[in-house]
Amino acid sequence: MRDGLLKDSFGRVMRDLRISLTDRCNFRCLYCLPETEAASNFYRGRFDPVRNPKPARLRMPDWKPRSEILTFEEIEFLVRIFARMGITKIRLTGGEPLLRSAVPDVVERIARIPGIEDLAMTSNGFLFARQARALKTAGLKRISFSLDSLDPDNFKKMTGRDGLSEVLRSIELAQEIGMTPVKVNAVIIRGLNEHEIESLAELAQLRDLSFRFIEFMPLDSSRSWQKDLVVPGREILQRLQARFDLHPVPSANPSETARRWRFADGRGEIGIIAPVSEPFCGHCNRVRLTADGRLRTCLFSIHEHDLKGAIRTGASEADLDERIRDIVFHKEDRHHIGEPSFIQPERTMSCIGG
Ligand code: SAM
Ligand code: SF4
Repeated sequence: MRDGLLKDSFGRVMRDLRISLTDRCNFRCLYCLPETEAASNFYRGRFDPVRNPKPARLRMPDWKPRSEILTFEEIEFLVRIFARMGITKIRLTGGEPLLRSAVPDVVERIARIPGIEDLAMTSNGFLFARQARALKTAGLKRISFSLDSLDPDNFKKMTGRDGLSEVLRSIELAQEIGMTPVKVNAVIIRGLNEHEIESLAELAQLRDLSFRFIEFMPLDSSRSWQKDLVVPGREILQRLQARFDLHPVPSANPSETARRWRFADGRGEIGIIAPVSEPFCGHCNRVRLTADGRLRTCLFSIHEHDLKGAIRTGASEADLDERIRDIVFHKEDRHHIGEPSFIQPERTMSCIGG
């Protein structure tokens, strides 16, 4: 096996592996799996008949059969290989990772791998309470929740689920058991939750949260994304600066996706993640493993690489090491959102793992 770090042809060194535990989800977020009547109503009539003459296909991706999903043993095997190549950070995601049974088991397997310094999860929070302590005991250090609205009706419209109180309780519980700082993500969409930007930031200040405002990306299952629906990060920041006394937080890590500000009173912070209007590809150190064991070198990759097939046909660790290095070497330089050459990937955010 070769020694050395996992690098691409532009000299970027990979440190962060995001693993999707399942492509399934118990929510139907309007920007991800817009399968609800509310989503259909929201998108209807918003299409520019010239640019987008076809109506949105409000259809779900087909769930992968269980036999195609990586087992926990396979995930552990791959993480050991990635850790030897310098990956230090793992984020478990999905779909909804907490739909997978016995998640603390895979957390425990990964947490004990030498070289893994940071183990985090992204969840919609609906099922967190019942597993919170087991996840913490197993070695989960940090958790990010998604919360797009503080209005129960708008929350339901955006997620397809009447679950605001469960998610707020999960945030509180994560703080109580010391998974701090708790991160919360909101995707901001024009005409849907943009009026809640200030109240979401107030929650961050009140509850001492690391709140992230994220631009809507073209990765939804119905391909309904349009540029007009993106609220640019700069606009979000201007609104927040008009309302709050914010101080920039310098970052020691150029690969960080968020630009961050703290509130003057020192409690809580906000971050803006603006991949559409201000891409940060130049410092990207992330690779992704889908639930069915395909390696993706970019959220927007058109090609993916089957590692599960290789494992199941008996590839050795040395074979996989070689294969992964070769795939990552060819990582894309950047995404092309907004350019005529942009092609939306076949797979949606829920399958890729955000
Ligand atoms: N189900 C979990 C959740 O919602 O937190 C984890 C998976 S979800 C795909 C991971 C993150 O991707 C969430 O923060 C979600 O808001 C974000 N996301 C999903 N679709 C998106 C889109 N089209 N544009 C921007 N962010 C998106
Ligand atoms: Fe599910 Fe997360 Fe996608 Fe919402 S964003 S539908 S919770 S995977």
